[in-house]
Amino acid sequence: MRRSLVVGNWKMHGSQESVIHLLNDLNEQLGGLEGVDMGVCPPFVYLPLVADKLAGTQIAWGGQDISHCEAGAHTGDIAAEMLGDFNCRYVIVGHSERRADHGESSERVAEKYLRALNAGLTPILCVGETLAEREAEQTLNVIGEQLQAVLGQFGSGRLDSMVIAYEPVWAIGTGKTASPEQAQQVHRFIRETLARESEILADSTRILYGGSVKPDNAEALFAEADIDGGLIGGAALIAEDFAAICRAGI
Ligand code: PEP
Repeated sequence: MRRSLVVGNWKMHGSQESVIHLLNDLNEQLGGLEGVDMGVCPPFVYLPLVADKLAGTQIAWGGQDISHCEAGAHTGDIAAEMLGDFNCRYVIVGHSERRADHGESSERVAEKYLRALNAGLTPILCVGETLAEREAEQTLNVIGEQLQAVLGQFGSGRLDSMVIAYEPVWAIGTGKTASPEQAQQVHRFIRETLARESEILADSTRILYGGSVKPDNAEALFAEADIDGGLIGGAALIAEDFAAICRAGI
């Protein structure tokens, strides 16, 4: 049985003051909550603060991205090992905003995935189609290509479980959520793709849904057989909403 995972992606939001408030509220709302794994991914500069406030709690933390390079002369980048230095458990790779804003190809995302694994982090691999791709009935082809870039690198030998987030680009930050049935169809496809590599990999991999998840739609989404939690953007900035979504994962 897979345990649900709910991760907040804070994106480029926050200030020292607001982060301290949010962390205090999260600790209050989520303290002692069992039966679901939880994490938050703040902007890099707030990681020391987050690590300090969340140490010893049930809430893990992680980065929103890493460099595809090893530590060295790469101005402005963050190496995977640096996240390990702040006890990060997770790192998001291949978020659609990075694919779009920074031209990250699926091959580049696969390089980041490997860096994360080598540094002992759990990568959260984001995949998802644009509205144009969905309308052109290319959704499964796009997701298949994004997945294959990573699977093709490793084969089943190296991957005993993964965390994948299906995030339709048209649902991110738009208030338009995929229906539970639409999401389940893609999640099922992802699991079937993994099963062609290895049944163990398919059974153990947690496939999160992301795209305008809110307290009022989380339960229906998480009830689907192949949806194992969520990657949460906007609602992760409101402690009460994030806590309600985490509870829906139990
Ligand atoms: C995200 O960016 O990962 C996301 C899912 O955002 P939102 O929940 O705001 O749509």
